[in-house]
Amino acid sequence: MHASTTLYHGPIVHSLSLDELEYAVDALVCVSPDGIINWIERNVDTSEIQDRAASHGLILDGTNNAVEIVQLGGHEFLCPGLIDTHTHAPQYPNLGLGQEYQLLDWLSNVTFPREAMFSDSTYATAVYEEVVKRTLAVGVTTASYYASLHESASKILAETTLRAGQRALIGKCNMDRNCPPEYREPSAKDSIEATRALISHVRAICPAGGPTAPLVQPCVTPRFALSCTSELMASLGELVAEDPSLHLQTHLSENTAEIKETLDLFPDCESYTAVYDKYGMLRKGTILAHCVWLSPAEMTVISDRHAGISHCPTSNFNLMSGGARVGAMLDEGIEVGLGSDCGGGFAIGILSQIRDASKLSKMIALNASTSEPSKKRKYSDKPLSIPALFHMATLGGASICNLKDRIGNFEAGKEFDALRVTPGASPGFFLDVGEDTTATSGSKSRQERVEVLKRNFERFLFVSDDRDIADVWVQGRRVAGSRS
Ligand SMILES: [Zn+2]
Repeated sequence: MHASTTLYHGPIVHSLSLDELEYAVDALVCVSPDGIINWIERNVDTSEIQDRAASHGLILDGTNNAVEIVQLGGHEFLCPGLIDTHTHAPQYPNLGLGQEYQLLDWLSNVTFPREAMFSDSTYATAVYEEVVKRTLAVGVTTASYYASLHESASKILAETTLRAGQRALIGKCNMDRNCPPEYREPSAKDSIEATRALISHVRAICPAGGPTAPLVQPCVTPRFALSCTSELMASLGELVAEDPSLHLQTHLSENTAEIKETLDLFPDCESYTAVYDKYGMLRKGTILAHCVWLSPAEMTVISDRHAGISHCPTSNFNLMSGGARVGAMLDEGIEVGLGSDCGGGFAIGILSQIRDASKLSKMIALNASTSEPSKKRKYSDKPLSIPALFHMATLGGASICNLKDRIGNFEAGKEFDALRVTPGASPGFFLDVGEDTTATSGSKSRQERVEVLKRNFERFLFVSDDRDIADVWVQGRRVAGSRS
């Protein structure tokens, strides 16, 4: 609970759909003490704030201490917080390491030895404090985290995100085969018991029932089919069947060697996607990371089940996994978000993923065969647009995390997860001299100021960094930002 209602006045940019961003230079956003967006007004001049607030029953006569006004200045704007739909909290100390490997060797030589260190709760506490602090600073207001396989360290991660105010899904990896003996669960039964214990713990420290969604929620996390016995897969399938509200995340179709090994282990399944489908894991609220090598038939199954895909381009480049055909996924009606996949990907946060997703889509467009017949090619084999990229970073991410009714853009009734961008501190960000987006900036019309805002927003996506992110709010609470 926060002390006051807050009115934010100034430019906003947010996603309305895959094809449309709204740029509003004189918006007035009212956020309740609970962190919920009560209402938004457009085209409000500074002199009109009092009257517009009064029309909503808010009296601003200088004596009302229950209302705070935040006036954006200069080139500043608000946008929704960025959503990292796939990342591994224990792998952050590995960022930048293991460049010489592809997936399966990278797991054995770099990843599993690091994750095994999280049996030490003191180490886990220290690392997770840093992970959450740094990801919030780069504007990640929501993260879907894989922890290690350890129940204790996974609980520590949940507690850390809650304390820091980062919205999070928390999963303890399930893995009872094909992993080194020192980093493997002893049985399917042990894995399920630890998973149930984590779910109970997260729901106890962050219960449902308030005006806002629980900030931290559990996520069932079979690491990937290769690391789970059939017995474990079946038990996890039963677990999620019991509870339709449970989130689930896993890896799918990342690397060709991984796909071959998976199909060898599950010979009755005609595809990698069919393995998860067999165990009832494909449904709304399921986040499938990578999906680089999906066949058209697999995409249809994922679309039919309403599961979402986390596109992780930096990781896919770095581990030489391949280029995911995001345009084809979108044409299939699949919701797609972006994931940093640290440390397979070496970049922290989601701005880097926007940039790499853009580059990859252009490579795919360059290499596309023009002879392929297709009925529905709105996005396939085409560069991803700015609206599509930002949609994946925010509203699409919210959708695949099953949080679209709570976050992802600025709509009345949603929660205020937002960034205040104060552009110009990062060295690549060149502002247009003499142009800003405020109503006091001379004789510029509203439409002219919208054009300035569009340019600054595009620069933010492609050349900015955390130095330009002045404030980070989650559920209306300021939790990070470069502004001192
Ligand atoms: Zn991953």
